[in-house]
Amino acid sequence: MALPIQIHTLIVEDSEEDTELLLRELQKGGYDPIHERVETRESLQAALDNRRWDIIFSDYTMPQFKGTEALALLRERGNDTPFLFVSGTIGEDRAVAAMKAGADDYIIKGNLKRLIPAVNRELREAEVRRERKKAEEALQESNQTLEAVVQSSPLAIIVIDPAGNVRMWNPAAEQILGWSAREVLGRPIPIRPEETKKETREAEREVKRFVNLERRYKRKDGVLIDTSISTSLLCNNDGEISGVMWIIADITERKRAEATIKQMAYYDTLTALPNRTLLHNRLQQAIPSAADENKSVGLLILDLDRFREINDTLGHPRGDALLQQIGPRLHAVLQPSDTIARLGGDEFAVMLPRIDSEQAALAAGRLLKALEKPFLIEGIPIVIEASIGMALSPEHGENPDSLIQHADIAMYVAKENKKGVALYSRKVDKHSPRRLALLGELRDAIENNHLFLVYQPKIHLWTRRVIGVEALVRWQHPQYGVIPPDQFITIAEHSGLIQPLTLWVVKTALAQCKIWQREGKAPNVAVNLSARNLEDPELPDQIAGLLVASGVGSASLNLEITESALMVNPAQAMETLTRLKNMEIQLSIDDFGTGYSSLGYLKKLPVHQIKIDKSFVKEMATDEEDAIIVRSTIELTHNLGLKVVAEGVESEEVLEKLAALDCDAAQGYHISRPLPPSELNAWFTETAPAKGWNL
Ligand code: C2E
Ligand code: CA
Ligand code: CA
Repeated sequence: MALPIQIHTLIVEDSEEDTELLLRELQKGGYDPIHERVETRESLQAALDNRRWDIIFSDYTMPQFKGTEALALLRERGNDTPFLFVSGTIGEDRAVAAMKAGADDYIIKGNLKRLIPAVNRELREAEVRRERKKAEEALQESNQTLEAVVQSSPLAIIVIDPAGNVRMWNPAAEQILGWSAREVLGRPIPIRPEETKKETREAEREVKRFVNLERRYKRKDGVLIDTSISTSLLCNNDGEISGVMWIIADITERKRAEATIKQMAYYDTLTALPNRTLLHNRLQQAIPSAADENKSVGLLILDLDRFREINDTLGHPRGDALLQQIGPRLHAVLQPSDTIARLGGDEFAVMLPRIDSEQAALAAGRLLKALEKPFLIEGIPIVIEASIGMALSPEHGENPDSLIQHADIAMYVAKENKKGVALYSRKVDKHSPRRLALLGELRDAIENNHLFLVYQPKIHLWTRRVIGVEALVRWQHPQYGVIPPDQFITIAEHSGLIQPLTLWVVKTALAQCKIWQREGKAPNVAVNLSARNLEDPELPDQIAGLLVASGVGSASLNLEITESALMVNPAQAMETLTRLKNMEIQLSIDDFGTGYSSLGYLKKLPVHQIKIDKSFVKEMATDEEDAIIVRSTIELTHNLGLKVVAEGVESEEVLEKLAALDCDAAQGYHISRPLPPSELNAWFTETAPAKGWNL
């Protein structure tokens, strides 16, 4: 037999006898009632305060209290414990009133058979009520959490009912889309209602899946924003569609960042013109589509003449300002479909889609003309000239690279001939200044040791001792023979090859110097640096490494930097030179007298000597003016505490004059031409001693 079920039973009853009867009946029904009997309002209240009851029985009328009052008291307190009247016959009307007042059942004392089924039922229902209450509380709690999520979400959360009216519009939706919840709730969605309906149908089709859409939206204030939207379908318990939920993220910032990155990848930052990459892409598209119409794509490469000088004299910011004005000038004389790109430095390119050679030449003429009018930079009028090289597809190239390369070659021809414009031709490529064909071959030449050095000695005028040699680079070209440096140093500077070239020269010169030092021939070697080298922050460390590897002391290395190279970026030059000087490397200013540097500036430079340019030295024996320049340069330099070397000494006469002017050292064909080591060895051992030059 099952154990009796304990129930806490409250009995509102004046008769102890009736109470006993009730308890016995409950026990018979399998219950173990733990009971309390009350018969006044006060004692009922105290009992209710005391504990939770499983069931309450109440008499209908008592001397001091009424059952209906007991029931009212209970319900007032929000207590839903099962409440059953157990009473003598009270008449049907009263019974109905009692049930209306909220009693759960009415049992006649004379017929207690109904008691147990009623108790069973009421206890079960009370249990169900309790469970439901618990579930409701849990639901409420989860709803509150959900609500907090919706309210604080940075994503706009919108629910639209199947009719297209807004049912939910969270604060983020207010912020992102501009409409307040008050304005839109219950109304058709303000962002294009017709699309909403379409959206609903679309979503219906996608039933279970999310669909991700992206399109631009107009905010309430009319501002366009980029959004990313995910749509999901809401269904009720019967599986019917009850609405569509949109979750909208404002991705305007992300789009903007993407646009910036794109801009940076395809456009030049200084001028905002397309860059080389974008030009390349456009050529790639234009070449075949022009071919379809039997037309050409014209590519013009335009390079400013002597832009470096402008940069040097006016400073970089003004040079930049000038470059920024080029694009608009060119645009003014071109078609909207033409592309103007900046390739780097002072080099621009113009792509003319669908054109013939005559039209290209006319366009080139217009471009040059457009640049004729002086540019105003901070009120200063500046005149510039440019050279243009032209190449046409498919004749001069069927892909972007060859077209660019050939237009570049033509541009060099235009520069060389001072003609302004040149059209590419294969003939030009082969026979014209050879350096044009050398573009692209130089890297291999450096890597495969096709370069070699010749050395020219310097002698001290007073002691007549050989004080060192200057290393000068040559290119042993398999086709063209020996090529002088003027024809490839500029190419190296423009193509970024000057760094490896210079390092190769330093390394080779140091190795040779080590040999001559051991043989007691030349104590020091000079190497030429270009302006670009001074812009390379790694150069000093790289040279330090080469010095260590060669075993030559740093004081035995002399670096020559032309005066104009120093002026390209004086602050940077100063920094690099200072680092080199601190390594105890000797520094010379080359080609002195050809630039515009002030003596004040020179005074600050950490250099040891200057080399008077050969253009003054060569003719100083016959040209009085040159002689004066040389003399005053020697005097000024000595006053600054620096040594002077004269280069370009081609006669004994000049040599004697220099000695008379107290010049420190000399270099030139009269002493020796630049020679490869094997030949210079013979000079060291035979020619020099014969002439009285001491080792
Ligand atoms: P530079 O540094 O002024 O070199 C002196 C140039 O004058 C050399 O020309 C030399 O052969 C020439 N020369 C020497 N004595 C006389 C003379 O008595 N009369 C005349 N008329 N010329 C004389 P080169 O070897 O053709 O070099 C030309 C320029 O190329 C050099 O001028 C230098 O600026 C540059 N260069 C040469 N090698 C290198 C190098 O390794 N790196 C860099 N960055 N530039 C170099
Ligand atoms: Ca030099
Ligand atoms: Ca020189």
